[in-house]
Amino acid sequence: MRRITMIFSGIPRIALVEKETPLQFVPNLSRTFDRDNIYIKREDMMSIAMGGNKLRSLEFWLGEAKARGCDVVITAGMRQSNHCRLTAAACKKIGLDCVILHNSEEDDDFDGNTFLNDLMGVKRIFLGNISEEERGIMQRNYRDKLISDGRNPYLIDDYAVGALGYVSCAVELMQQAASSHIDLRHVFISASAGPTEAGLLFGLALFGPRIKVHLISVEYEREYYMSVLRKLFDEIGKKLGFMPPVGIDDIAVFYEDYLGEGYGIPTPQSLDAVRIMAENEAIMIETTYNAKTYAGMFDLMRRGIVPREEAVCCFLTGGTPHLFTAYKSFRKGN
Ligand SMILES: *Cc1c(COP(=O)(O)O)cnc(C)c1O
Repeated sequence: MRRITMIFSGIPRIALVEKETPLQFVPNLSRTFDRDNIYIKREDMMSIAMGGNKLRSLEFWLGEAKARGCDVVITAGMRQSNHCRLTAAACKKIGLDCVILHNSEEDDDFDGNTFLNDLMGVKRIFLGNISEEERGIMQRNYRDKLISDGRNPYLIDDYAVGALGYVSCAVELMQQAASSHIDLRHVFISASAGPTEAGLLFGLALFGPRIKVHLISVEYEREYYMSVLRKLFDEIGKKLGFMPPVGIDDIAVFYEDYLGEGYGIPTPQSLDAVRIMAENEAIMIETTYNAKTYAGMFDLMRRGIVPREEAVCCFLTGGTPHLFTAYKSFRKGN
């Protein structure tokens, strides 16, 4: 394997995650599932704005923005987006202006991320309920407008750049496991837009075929998702200038069985998973991404598909503010 510390040389990056996030053994949860080997990679434990996976991607996106001398960052997402909140927060930290374009209506319903965006005083523009394609066009128009105003904007739109954050995280995870003598055999993570998972897979693939990565869909169906994932995996290879010794199909398994009715809509099992994590470990997981992923992991462990003697790590990718928005789903009767 290539010298790990060298793989990012020449690629712009800034520091936003100031130290390793914990790889935490969870004894009570392990006991509940009659095992002694469940670990959680605590990506919610970062110091900026309640943390989350997007901060690792922002190290590379904002690194590129700085390297190009940009003075304002444009990003887009739905009103409740974790990505938008963390982009705003990271820009505050390093002193760049930030504009968020929301493909949502402005409304007064409480939302955890919206509340934090308001506290940070970030500029937000509501575009209404438009498609992702239309949103892309409006982002580029907005960039052109800023350029004509004499600004130097950076538009966050290259997922392969963001994916590098999780190549780095994969290496961090494997080094933590090795130094604690954990023979990690299974990794679970939410499958959504793709950059996090593509980077993680690329990084874990550097260590060969021994590890199995369970991708639990919280948004897309297999065919579309896998084509996005493969494309990103190849683009990461182009950026870094090499490919890992094994490919996606050697280490990844994709599941769409835990998605339920769709993105952001809880399932009875996902609400149970939130309670199981809170009751066993006092670890709070949100409902859009992590709850479905944990529900999937619990089901696969119960059914014996993940052998009980093999060590498991589940990512907790953050999104904590959204749990407060989801409280209504937990009212009696649900
Ligand atoms: C965005 C997000 C994900 C999914 O990451 P992608 O790279 O978009 O697939 C998972 N968990 C949380 C909390 C997120 O905000």
